[in-house]
Amino acid sequence: MISTHLTRLLDIRVPIVQGGMQWVGLPPLAAAVSNAGGLGILTALSQPSPEALRTAIRETRKLTSNNFGVNLTLLPTLVPPDYEGYARVAVEEGVRVFETAGNNPGPLIRFFKSKGCIVIHKCTTIRHAKSAAKMGVDVLSIDGFECAGHPGEEDIGALILLARAAQELKIPYIASGGIADARGLVAALALGACGVNMGTRFMCTVESPIHQNIKDKIIASSEQDTTHIFRTFHNTARVFKNKVAQEVVAIERRPGGAKFEDVRHLVAGARGRLVYDNGDPEYGIWSASGVIGLITDSPTCEVLLRRIEREAEEVIGGLATLRSDATPVKAKL
Ligand code: NAD
Repeated sequence: MISTHLTRLLDIRVPIVQGGMQWVGLPPLAAAVSNAGGLGILTALSQPSPEALRTAIRETRKLTSNNFGVNLTLLPTLVPPDYEGYARVAVEEGVRVFETAGNNPGPLIRFFKSKGCIVIHKCTTIRHAKSAAKMGVDVLSIDGFECAGHPGEEDIGALILLARAAQELKIPYIASGGIADARGLVAALALGACGVNMGTRFMCTVESPIHQNIKDKIIASSEQDTTHIFRTFHNTARVFKNKVAQEVVAIERRPGGAKFEDVRHLVAGARGRLVYDNGDPEYGIWSASGVIGLITDSPTCEVLLRRIEREAEEVIGGLATLRSDATPVKAKL
């Protein structure tokens, strides 16, 4: 067992957090991750209203007696969500761990901290990480350019960002973006993280509430099958490279540029959601990180986390044999 600040803080067995994922972070997945020894997370905005989130929290609680969290992401949306309402309901329902992400999280972070909650804040630059630390977050989730969804506008890969975090941050952090297996976890620990956040990897599990065709598509895809949309709107998002995504990029590259209104019909989240319902990977925009190139199966969350735990121990053992005074053994490395 790998014991870190994160496992002790959240009372979990494996230092793995399931990141917030729009339309994917629903009760069955969050509960399965928590039951498997990680921290499952419900994505608040996947619910149509704060009251629907209340129902989802109660549903999750019926499925697991372990700790789980709620994600609230503050990024541009077509319809402004009632962020405060979602936050209030989650706290009322006894949720004690929150993952926040996006712009101007100060008021939300202060609210959660005033209620004694644990806040994991996701950020894509050291500057934002330091500012969130000052606001009192408990753990930073350092999100590299490899991530699915919104990597920010600075394009800093996880290897550098995490090494910078080790140099600069005074509070614990986990690694996010590009992690799907034991090697990723151990690399993150080597870079000073006390755990990892995984999103796309959990999309391809038995309990993930998306159509089997999409899971099969993830398994069949390579690390070259994602692209960035919204670069010109300063709201960059890494998504699966399908025809719709390529059309959005082409519109953004038109001479004279594009306005968000020019792509709105292609990118609406409600349309992307149908991809997960109808199983057509070409139907709309869906988030995916380059780890789709690493994913070769769709196990239960229990099998996945047990495997990562076991293989992480093996990788750490293999690294130990690199020491010059180590007893020579047949290392895999
Ligand atoms: P939505 O239907 O409101 O919008 C669809 C996409 O367009 C989202 O990526 C959104 O950020 C973007 N968008 C909306 N208005 C915009 C504008 N004026 N300028 C530039 N971009 C704009 O979103 P949804 O699918 O219902 O998702 C709800 C929220 O969750 C959004 O803020 C979305 O960004 C966020 N989200 C985050 C991730 C991630 O980071 N992994 C993944 C999916 C969605």
